[in-house]
Amino acid sequence: MKAKIYRGTKEIGGTCVELIADNGKILWIDIGAPLDTLNPNVGYVKNKVDAVLISHPHADHYGLVEHLVAEVPVYIGELALDLINATKIFTANEHLKGTFTTFKPWKKFTIADTFQITPFLTDHSTPEAFAFLIEADEKRVFYSGDFRATGRKEKVFNKLIENPPGDIDLLLMEGTMVERTNHLYQTEDSVEEAVYKIFKEQKNVSFVISSAQNIDRFVSVFRACKRTNKFLVIDVYSAWILDMVRKQSTGIPAIEWNEIKVFEHPGQLNKIRDSSFDEFRNRVKKQRAGNSVFEHPSDYVYFVRCPNEALVKKLRGKEKINIIYSQWEGYLKEEHKNYCTDNINTLKVANDISFQSIHTSGHATVPDLMRFAKALNPKMIVPIHTTYPDKFKKEFEKEGMTNIALWDDGIEYEL
Ligand SMILES: [Zn+2]
Ligand SMILES: [Zn+2]
Repeated sequence: MKAKIYRGTKEIGGTCVELIADNGKILWIDIGAPLDTLNPNVGYVKNKVDAVLISHPHADHYGLVEHLVAEVPVYIGELALDLINATKIFTANEHLKGTFTTFKPWKKFTIADTFQITPFLTDHSTPEAFAFLIEADEKRVFYSGDFRATGRKEKVFNKLIENPPGDIDLLLMEGTMVERTNHLYQTEDSVEEAVYKIFKEQKNVSFVISSAQNIDRFVSVFRACKRTNKFLVIDVYSAWILDMVRKQSTGIPAIEWNEIKVFEHPGQLNKIRDSSFDEFRNRVKKQRAGNSVFEHPSDYVYFVRCPNEALVKKLRGKEKINIIYSQWEGYLKEEHKNYCTDNINTLKVANDISFQSIHTSGHATVPDLMRFAKALNPKMIVPIHTTYPDKFKKEFEKEGMTNIALWDDGIEYEL
């Protein structure tokens, strides 16, 4: 077997790995969109490939999937596909284009009569992320995907390192946190505790800025709301996401739960006018937040990507509004800015806003990466999904791990 990393040996984002079996069959793992504009070259997406395997529904791992030739089979988790489709429905009114086959956690399957895949559920900032054991030509490759050990699924991390797959020839392991730090909040539990303290004292409304698909974070905020008797207001898109996640795990809050209210975002409702959404729209209507927030703003917490400007304007006044920024702070910088960055940066410096950043990363800390690598004990480790592979290598060598190889993008290596 041969392996090549199209993108990701020196960057976070745009991840795409190629495995070529001795019989000529080609498998790609992830087909991510780049996160920045430094290297726009993604011409390789038109190269010959027999199948694509997607680790999780973050755009830096699946974002170029629609650029594939339509017939290429794409293997993806059920919930991951539902979550990507949710994004498509609420942005483009359509489903993701492609030929998809779904798989289940820990259930082994074969791709192109050649590659044996075992998907391991991992702990990450999306509810369904996988690492893969890929076997072919008597070689065993382990692809970590994005993972951490500090979220609400820390159990699956422990399960994997307590009972690791053996005889790994190559471990492709993410190294996001080699350059980032996670000092203040180490775990999801510490995030819950921090937002709880703010909700307890709030005299006006609080906004928590996060991704609707970060279900661990949603649960942290929900639990803090429950402990402080606050209503948690979500938008229509988030309500849809909860429905998708509940198809797999019914412990996740439902939109009908007493603590949940739904803000009827007109733009989002517009995307689901089709009669197939009738039942969902009716359920949303029953839970609508309406104007109740204006009577007792301090009873409400909004979990949104962007604080609604009209709402903020109406509620500004005597008491401070809390804005809790609960995602990677890089999104507030010019080079990673999105549609809401300017709005939040303006509110951040306003006198009548209390702005706080309360977040923990979706990625493993360097000590957790080392625990993981030591448990798997592979013949060779190649860092991926990192901006600082050299630092990765140095840190690991300090710990006595001398099996780190640094690869270059686009080069084929024999296993
Ligand atoms: Zn990710
Ligand atoms: Zn990623």
